[in-house]
Amino acid sequence: MKTWIHPETRKVTIECSCGQKFEVNSTIPWDIRVEICSKCHPFYTGEQRIVKTGAVDKFYARMKKAEELKKNSK
Ligand SMILES: [Zn+2]
Repeated sequence: MKTWIHPETRKVTIECSCGQKFEVNSTIPWDIRVEICSKCHPFYTGEQRIVKTGAVDKFYARMKKAEELKKNSK
């Protein structure tokens, strides 16, 4: 019997950076940490638009600051 093709599985905890925890059966004997999961991914939370807007705002704020610095240096 090829018993080795059925590796032992155990319950491991996957912990996301958002605090969400999942219990899964895995052959990996240690807990897993992930940056993003189905609970906090922008695609599922619908926050993608907000995140993008924030990034754009930061970009424009930097442009404005750069322009002001240019004006002040003259
Ligand atoms: Zn998460």
